[in-house]
Amino acid sequence: MNAFTLADCTTVDGALSQLKDGAVVKAGGVDLLDRMKNGTTQPEKLVNIRNISALRGIEETDKGLKIGALATLTEISEHPVIRKQYQILSDACGSAATPHIRNMATVGGNLLQPVQCWYYRSAEFQCLRKGKDFCFAFNGLNQYHAIMDYGTCPAVAPSSSAVALLGLNAAVELVSAKRGKRLVAIKDLYVHPDANPTKFTVIEPDELLTGVMIPKPAPGTRSAYQKYGEKDSFDWAVADAGIVLEMDGNTCRRAVVTMGAASPVVRRSPQAEAELTGKPITEAAARAAGKAAMQGATPLSMNAYKVDMFPVAIYRTVLLAAGQMDRDPRAAG
Ligand SMILES: Cc1cc2nc3c(=O)[nH]c(=O)nc-3n(C[C@H](O)[C@H](O)[C@H](O)COP(=O)(O)OP(=O)(O)OC[C@H]3O[C@@H](n4cnc5c(N)ncnc54)[C@H](O)[C@@H]3O)c2cc1C
Ligand code: SF4
Repeated sequence: MNAFTLADCTTVDGALSQLKDGAVVKAGGVDLLDRMKNGTTQPEKLVNIRNISALRGIEETDKGLKIGALATLTEISEHPVIRKQYQILSDACGSAATPHIRNMATVGGNLLQPVQCWYYRSAEFQCLRKGKDFCFAFNGLNQYHAIMDYGTCPAVAPSSSAVALLGLNAAVELVSAKRGKRLVAIKDLYVHPDANPTKFTVIEPDELLTGVMIPKPAPGTRSAYQKYGEKDSFDWAVADAGIVLEMDGNTCRRAVVTMGAASPVVRRSPQAEAELTGKPITEAAARAAGKAAMQGATPLSMNAYKVDMFPVAIYRTVLLAAGQMDRDPRAAG
């Protein structure tokens, strides 16, 4: 690991004033220190935001929910209002990583973690996402990579919370000392590698993510998230799904189907949503949604298994959201 200086901040303004000359934010540090230890990232200065109390807490407002950037995955997954009204988010945060990582990991850091591709995470491989012109995954070990919409880089979106927050139509608040505050919807937060291979999100180096805003769910909303991994715990998803159903009695008025580990940027599946919207939620509709979500999939040499896994993940998560299935004990978390 390279030598670095640490600026320990207790206010947002203090942290913003430090964010210059290549300084990097450290929240829980789970992802950042991992990249520093393996040499992928070598910042000269870290700005520690963990002691900024204004970035903590989960607050119910008349518009919905405001979650501070430093809320941990454990705090979010165990929050009584989130468990009751935003179940998809409680599921997603509660199934990421392991209990001790969830106690350290913050929602801001979880949303902003770069891809987990093992070539990207090794200092020995200089790929497209490090500003070079080559991707090692296409002809290499690509079993955990994308099956759709990958263009030049098939590393998948790693954040479980992003899959849930996309489903909930959430936005993040970004603040810079020079330009002030802006709200960015989760759907616009991530940068596709074809648009800019070295930029993972639209956040600028002088910006701090200060919170996540989630609108109040419409009446009759039910939701769920499920993650399937190679191991039951301690790993990222190989297939995951988020489902939000707005129900009128037995009929689904509006459906949102989201996926993470299918593509480089978290995505909705309009094809799957069309199979659920305006219909009663049945096993047949849930299966049709799962199948429809795989339209256009172009798996790589080692990951065709994902084309079978995603439909099952979606089928089960739809039935779970609709209250027609118990939690699958084999779903990772
Ligand atoms: C074994 C293992 C399994 C895992 N499984 C999963 C999983 O299943 N699902 C999942 O989603 N994740 C998983 N993770 C990833 C883990 O959840 C993330 O590393 C963690 O959430 C990052 O949060 P953090 O607070 O530690 O972020 P940090 O490491 O502190 O920061 C991450 C990045 O975000 C930036 N950053 C952080 N906060 C801010 C802010 N407020 N403003 C601006 N920039 C900021 C940092 O500069 C850094 O680039 C796993 C990790 C491990 C080690
Ligand atoms: S998949 Fe993306 S991150 Fe991985 S080696 Fe290829 S370009 Fe780099």
